[in-house]
Amino acid sequence: MTRIVQKYGGSSVATAAHILRVAGLIAERRRLGEEVVASVSAMGDTTDDLTSLAHEVAPHPHPREMDVLLSTGEIVSSALLSMALHDLGVDAVSLSGAQAGIRTDAVHRRARIAEIDAERVERELAAGRVVIVAGFQGVSEASDVTTLGRGASDTTAVALAAALQADACEIYTDVAGIYTADPRICPDARPLLDIGYEEMLEMATTGARVMHARAVELGAVYDVPVRVKSSFDPTLPGTLIHRETSMEQGNKVRGIAHQSHIAKVTVRGVPDRPGIAAYLFEPLADANVSVDTIVQNASVENLTDMTFTVAPEDLEGALRVVQNVLPHIGGSEVVFAPDLGTVSIVGTGMASAPGYAAKMFRTLFDHEININMISTSDIRITCVVESDRVADAVRALHSAFELEREPAIGATQVE
Ligand code: ADP
Ligand code: MG
Repeated sequence: MTRIVQKYGGSSVATAAHILRVAGLIAERRRLGEEVVASVSAMGDTTDDLTSLAHEVAPHPHPREMDVLLSTGEIVSSALLSMALHDLGVDAVSLSGAQAGIRTDAVHRRARIAEIDAERVERELAAGRVVIVAGFQGVSEASDVTTLGRGASDTTAVALAAALQADACEIYTDVAGIYTADPRICPDARPLLDIGYEEMLEMATTGARVMHARAVELGAVYDVPVRVKSSFDPTLPGTLIHRETSMEQGNKVRGIAHQSHIAKVTVRGVPDRPGIAAYLFEPLADANVSVDTIVQNASVENLTDMTFTVAPEDLEGALRVVQNVLPHIGGSEVVFAPDLGTVSIVGTGMASAPGYAAKMFRTLFDHEININMISTSDIRITCVVESDRVADAVRALHSAFELEREPAIGATQVE
């Protein structure tokens, strides 16, 4: 029997009518004789609304309590979807992350799945039920509810697909797959037929929120091919994320990712001696601040500047930590810029060919977009730019690298 694990995102279960439609899709798969496990997100903007509510009662809500609160969003949608299935005559059961055996570490708000004890899910499947799992959550060894980070219902699905040795893993969202850029800001973006794990991971970590980065990582580690599709038009093929990417090798830049809002912190006048970076970044890591791009300037008279970027929600925490360590490392001052964003070009073909960085910088210059910082990996170049120029930058680069063009299969790109 074919076993599938699906995931339905927040917009796909935003209202009762949406939930009924998703129930219809699942019922259809049952009629085809497939075993179905579905991970669901909270309805619409529930997670944001719960977060705002928490901040109304406490400016710095305790992470443990936040996890208890946020986990309820997914519980609501899983119960409703199960009820809707019952009404269609389909036997179904909803399970919280803990009930589904999703064990995590104890890092609240950003927990990682340690293991999945799939015994209960297997038992329900054997009894002929559809299993609806509340996404984005698990349980720590101390029996506390944890959440896996924003957007992590994707990760719940891919982890379940690996643990259950599913035949397929399908992520249903509000767009028809992985596009060459976010279709909301780039009208010329087109859905890709397929993309490799490596490229998708770079896209996801640099802002393509259509897939949670950890889900892509798990897919790669456990070799789970993941198909990303639209729940609004499930007849479209969507995009396959898998090990080999063969169809579109002609185009060396595969996609453009962006982050509309990031913040930059600069520590000025730091003595240029061994250990300074460790002194600065260890306490940031201990405070669970995740740091992205780091740049250390060439030193002048043995003093240097250290600059790094963080998500806007981490800015306050990062500044607190840096102010604390400043006297110990001997820096002169801390400055920050909150209104920045990033734009990245991603593609495995870039690793072996020169000229991509130059073309990217020239394109941004032609559009009078100032580059604040640059970081690269083998298959990615990221520029930090002003927040209000991010969308222009995405569109300009999309057009400069001709991503709107369907590449001929197997063709080589002419520079
Ligand atoms: P869900 O609630 O289904 O998890 P998300 O909002 O998390 O949906 O992710 C889907 C959104 O991701 C799309 O609506 C789109 O605006 C955005 N997105 C960003 N980059 C891309 C991309 N390269 N391809 C497709 N969608 C993208
Ligand atoms: Mg999502």
